[in-house]
Amino acid sequence: MDSNHHSNYKLSKTEKKFLRKQVKASHTLLRHEGIQTVSYATQSLVVANGGLGNGMSRNQLLPVLEKCGLVDALLMPPNKPYSFARYKTTEESKTAYVTLNGKEVVDDLGRKIILYLNFVEKAQWKELRPQALPPGLMVVEEIISSEDEKMLLESVDWTEDTDNQNSQKSLKHRRVKHFGYEFHYENNSVDKDKPLSGGLPDICDRFLEKWLREGYIKHKPDQMTINQYEPGHGIPAHIDTHSAFEDEIISLSLGSEIVMDFKHPDGITVPVMLPRRSLLVMTGESRYLWTHGITCRKFDTVQASGSQKSGIITSDVGDITLSKRGLRTSFTFRKVRQTPCNCSYPLVCDSQRKETPPSFPESDKEASRLEQEYVHQVYEEIAGHFSSTRHTPWPHIVEFLKALPNGSIVADIGCGNGKYLGINKELYMIGCDRSQNLVDICRERQFQAFVCDALAVPVRSGSCDACISIAVIHHFATASHRILAGRDFEISISRPLEYTVSSD
Ligand SMILES: [Zn+2]
Repeated sequence: MDSNHHSNYKLSKTEKKFLRKQVKASHTLLRHEGIQTVSYATQSLVVANGGLGNGMSRNQLLPVLEKCGLVDALLMPPNKPYSFARYKTTEESKTAYVTLNGKEVVDDLGRKIILYLNFVEKAQWKELRPQALPPGLMVVEEIISSEDEKMLLESVDWTEDTDNQNSQKSLKHRRVKHFGYEFHYENNSVDKDKPLSGGLPDICDRFLEKWLREGYIKHKPDQMTINQYEPGHGIPAHIDTHSAFEDEIISLSLGSEIVMDFKHPDGITVPVMLPRRSLLVMTGESRYLWTHGITCRKFDTVQASGSQKSGIITSDVGDITLSKRGLRTSFTFRKVRQTPCNCSYPLVCDSQRKETPPSFPESDKEASRLEQEYVHQVYEEIAGHFSSTRHTPWPHIVEFLKALPNGSIVADIGCGNGKYLGINKELYMIGCDRSQNLVDICRERQFQAFVCDALAVPVRSGSCDACISIAVIHHFATASHRILAGRDFEISISRPLEYTVSSD
């Protein structure tokens, strides 16, 4: 913004505040998103806070913008807290700029949001998102009738059963029930020698036989997990353990649609719409290499036109909006594997993981190279799987965290999937990890976390009351790196000498 522009008259306190925020919004856009705003009027505006990423839907934003003139295009990039509006004329965009800056609107969750607008040369958005489903993935729409859907949903008895016929749990972010074999979340596997009595419910048999006949599956499943997700629920990104289950994993979506995110180790994410009454079939690469998960949120980003029901949510930013989630129940069928997995993805295959003989690196440079190659990269690639195999916190760490005074600031160096970040809600915990994917998982779980190296933690000296670092030190290749890390935590982060470093 040109400050001379405003020097002719005195701004009110509120106007000054809005101006400050508006300028701040333009700086943020440039710094974080590379979006260059301009100080002269154009037809196009970037609307900070008016984005799908902060709960604003197309249906709510468009009428607000249209009050100022004819909107030619409204681009709403997925997961971003801003959008782009192009007006028919510069006059109209100027009206919007003047009247909507600092305007309070109500988002899809009923929260008040203040819009900040800035001019841009062009309303545009480029995102490289693949237009194809992950290889081996298929979504079969309307695989069952509404009557069958109703019957299957009514067949699920969520009341606690005491005879232990099948296992039922209320996990943090969903309800689950297991049939055929109990699923152990500690190791993400099943006890192959201990099938549950009763097997799969008879009611499923007719469908499984039909899907076998129609070729959607080659093996008849012998394990089933029912998950129930309320709006806001989710499941962390994970790969189903290779050694536990055969290639085909199928999941029937009932009650409500949901968007499932598939992530390739290279970082590509493909959001896939699973409509109600559809069958998701994961085989090959999509089953073995890609993680899948459901983000905990109350709204999904979906196609606005409704022309396409299942499959990939495209990056056509002129055609996506938010859809409120409903109660979704999924029936996931798997076949328990009896022989080790011999897939083509050894890096993420627990059956093919090689034991490496211990050796010590010669130099500091060599040590850093080893850490980069064997620790950082591997964690990046296995983050989803790693996270889903790390559920149970160590009891003495839990005890330590619970004993700290309320309000303590605590750093968790090498926080992984954040399993310690939510132990004591009275603490202010910040996690960091070398793996972006693990940090993403923490953020999905609503924890504060950032990416950094434990050898150079960018936290101001004495700013924390306590610090933990669990099962991290053993990843450093040399004794000197281990000592360096330990000293860094102790001296520069923790205020009093309250820290615990441990390794497994
Ligand atoms: Zn495998």
